[in-house]
Amino acid sequence: MKRVFLETYGCQMNVADSELMAGVLERAGMELVESAEDADAVILNTCAIREHAEQRVLGRLGEFANLKSRNPDLIVGVAGCMAQHLRARLLDKKRVLDLVVGPDGYRNLPELLRRAAQLPTAEVRLDRDETYGDLEPKRHGGVRAWVTVQRGCDKFCTYCVVPYTRGRERSLPLADLVRQVEQAAAQGFREIVFLGQTVNSYHDGAHDFADLLRATNDVHGVLRIRYTSPHPSDMSERVLDAMTTCQKVMPHVHLPLQSGSDRVLAAMERSYTLAQYRTLLARIRQRIPGVAVSTDIIVGFPGETLEDFAATQAFLAEARYDSAFLFKYSARPDTKAYRLRETVDDDEKGRRLQSLIDQQHGISGEIMDGWLGREVEVLVDGPSWRGKGAREPQLHGKSREFKTVVWSDDGALPGTLRRVRVVGATPVTLLGESLAVPRPEPLVTLSA
Ligand code: SF4
Repeated sequence: MKRVFLETYGCQMNVADSELMAGVLERAGMELVESAEDADAVILNTCAIREHAEQRVLGRLGEFANLKSRNPDLIVGVAGCMAQHLRARLLDKKRVLDLVVGPDGYRNLPELLRRAAQLPTAEVRLDRDETYGDLEPKRHGGVRAWVTVQRGCDKFCTYCVVPYTRGRERSLPLADLVRQVEQAAAQGFREIVFLGQTVNSYHDGAHDFADLLRATNDVHGVLRIRYTSPHPSDMSERVLDAMTTCQKVMPHVHLPLQSGSDRVLAAMERSYTLAQYRTLLARIRQRIPGVAVSTDIIVGFPGETLEDFAATQAFLAEARYDSAFLFKYSARPDTKAYRLRETVDDDEKGRRLQSLIDQQHGISGEIMDGWLGREVEVLVDGPSWRGKGAREPQLHGKSREFKTVVWSDDGALPGTLRRVRVVGATPVTLLGESLAVPRPEPLVTLSA
């Protein structure tokens, strides 16, 4: 077996895990291919965070069943959170499925694929020590490298399946992470994004997240450092100190709220009150002037009343986030909340969700309008798909605050920094004009 097709669902941590798997497979002499039709094995790297994500994967497995009926030697595998979560059910479908591998089984993926060619194979044990810190991922191109610093979660929010699918929290050794960041910089990546379920609770036994930010701030070739997602309860003064003193750490904090009601926050076991969250948000804005803040909110948690929802609306108006990821509650088996009676039907969840989307859209639009006339520093990503209908080619990139900026192509190279003046705005994009010199030069000299 040589050719493997890998398809990824879910969050950025899953994308990073797929890059890890790709590295493991290539070092074993296997080739990653672009289409399932060209493959000897297909692996779906899955997400269990919402029911909708699982349904998409089950639908995709149906398509692979058709492919397998034409090519009986094809190995079909499921990896990731859904493998862990639905292991029994997936193995029942063994006429289609040959391999189930959970998030802690990727190190042995080549061997598991070989075994799966003989008989259905499952490797779903959670391993408290596995961090993959010593393995080099095979990253896709681009200017941004996603580096997982911590795996699993110990928080057990009542709605969340992650502690059950990804196991207990463990951090990669600081030295491994510095080496990974140096490798990414040497490969041409200019922005590092640290990933973890609760990334700021990082602790390798000797170093905390503030130490990690400081240690990687000095890596040659790295222009910018970001991280996601922190947990409000772990947002220490030490992390804020590091953000203010490390010049490469960007002024953007994603600070999940989940609900503006103390009653719902308690039922979710989020470990903070709204007052504590409000104090933290004010502290972040005081310590990091101009910081952009984004959030996550869930609507329709069991027991969420109209008063609870109104509290969320009121806090959204007060907090004035730059952006927000807004979701309907989705009951997940194994979680504590799964045993609660759902009190908000799907139509009402949809209504509440749309109301928050509209509210946030207005707030984001006002904030983006406030950028008109200002200069922003942009890390160039490359040609903009938005430019396809435009009269002239366009580039896109991210501002320091992680806002998407689009401007006419001035020849800037991906991975360089550009100064752009904002001349237009939508709730999600800043439109700019370049302040570039005529012959752009890369701002960074690559190390050998
Ligand atoms: S902090 Fe809560 S929501 Fe986030 S991964 Fe852990 S259990 Fe899930």
